[in-house]
Amino acid sequence: MGAAATSITTPGASIKSINPATGELLGEVPDQSAEEIHTAVARARAAQVDWGKLPIEARCRRVLRYAEVLMERVDEVIDLLSREGGKTRQEALGMEVIVVADLVRYFAKHAPKMLEPEPIPLHLMKHRASYLHFVPRGVIGIIAPWNFPFSIPIGETMMSLIAGNGVVLKPSEVTPLIAHKARELYLAADLPPDLFQVITGRGAAGAALIDGGINYCVFTGSVATGKKVAAACGERLIPCTLELGGKAPAVVCADADLDRAAQAITWGGFANSGQVCASVERVYAVDKIHDELVARIVGHARELRQGNAASDDVDVGAMAWDQQVALVEKLVNSAVANGAKVEVGGKRGPGPGQFFQPTVLTNCTQDMDVMRKEIFGPVLPIMRVSDEDEAVRLANDSHLGLLAYVFTKDREHGKRVAERIEAGTVMVNDVLATYACPETPWGGVKQSGIGRTHSSHGLRDLCDTRHVNHDRISLPREVWWYPYKPGTFKALLRGAKLLFGKRPWQR
Ligand code: NDP
Repeated sequence: MGAAATSITTPGASIKSINPATGELLGEVPDQSAEEIHTAVARARAAQVDWGKLPIEARCRRVLRYAEVLMERVDEVIDLLSREGGKTRQEALGMEVIVVADLVRYFAKHAPKMLEPEPIPLHLMKHRASYLHFVPRGVIGIIAPWNFPFSIPIGETMMSLIAGNGVVLKPSEVTPLIAHKARELYLAADLPPDLFQVITGRGAAGAALIDGGINYCVFTGSVATGKKVAAACGERLIPCTLELGGKAPAVVCADADLDRAAQAITWGGFANSGQVCASVERVYAVDKIHDELVARIVGHARELRQGNAASDDVDVGAMAWDQQVALVEKLVNSAVANGAKVEVGGKRGPGPGQFFQPTVLTNCTQDMDVMRKEIFGPVLPIMRVSDEDEAVRLANDSHLGLLAYVFTKDREHGKRVAERIEAGTVMVNDVLATYACPETPWGGVKQSGIGRTHSSHGLRDLCDTRHVNHDRISLPREVWWYPYKPGTFKALLRGAKLLFGKRPWQR
């Protein structure tokens, strides 16, 4: 494949990119200094001045070319995503490439309308008028995780560019090469070279980016790092979006279509080796259907083929980060020590490479770490509950609230249950998929984050919202201006009583 030649090795490079399925060294990138990172921000800022002045339609046309180049070079992107991230080729295509291509097309078509000035009808000051207009913020700093090293940061990059900003991206140290590949495509799409920069490094590089003069930060990562990022942004009064961890519950009602629920939960728990912030991380199955559901999920899990994602005959690939395998193992062992039963899997996969077997646990209880902490690995803990009310109560008993899922054949009932669950998004009879709907907002409640990406909300967040208020008719003066006179005061008071007090006929 084309990307086999990708090896970005610079003098003094110290961050190694490793194929998690084989241990093969793929390339090395530098751990850049704060000074280099600040220079990258300055270059993006200089390039943004002209870019931000282009009409939005022209920016959309230019960015649209990115989707075309992406599809022209789709094989090399899939290959690198699979080799650096350990994901299967189908996941690389469906969960990374298509998500970006579709997002670009969607916003290229709809962003001009979303960012049109928005009139605000004034209910009292009818002689004046207001409107909002949306102005590029400047330079957006994007700090990204390793689990979706393309769709997350590049989707955000494309939205930022369409909104008129420059971008500096700091990818995870675990998956830096795909960020460089994304910029290679960007240059091939003939977009302004300095406008989008990729800087590499460890956590300190992310901190240096926040300190480098950016105007907004889009951070995706863990709750622990998110709190540090929020503090650093707060210190500098930089607004930010925080997309943090999830612990998505699946509530399976007594009337669920068990075939569909079992397939959805199996895929939602094991896709991308469970390294999805929206992964099904805990299942609450009501007593009546618990055993039947477990039997079906276990049946599906047993059929999954795990291995090096270079082959097309693999369902579950390697885990991208070695330390995550140890965390997953610890959570499973602790659950088993506390009474959980391993129905399938339960152990690290055979080496070489970083694998954890697709694992189904039953007899789980709410107090277990595996039900409370983010697993971020291919593990499905299942708990028996007496009824839906208990399921909803336990689903809400979490510090996280990103995604949640409800399974029932009764669509109206499903919507009512969904509305009771504390999560940024609740899907009825499906899992994960709304990240691939650029028109819907993505983000969490509680400690899953602040703000939204995607959708018109996410796009507008990448702009400064400014308000203009102007006169509609010419008046010599406003009645509340100087000089204050007793007559004016009386007239204003009479008007206020009429407007806000009880109506004469109600007195
Ligand atoms: P981390 O929080 O460890 O890292 C995220 C990014 O922050 C990385 O680029 C990291 O660099 C960088 N970073 C580390 N320290 C700092 C710092 N002090 N200041 C600024 N940046 C810093 O997350 P992971 O990469 O491990 O990603 C997994 C997490 O991301 C999970 O919790 C998952 O739920 C969450 N996530 C949330 C999503 C959402 O949409 N809500 C989507 C995807 C993932 P480096 O890697 O080099 O240390």
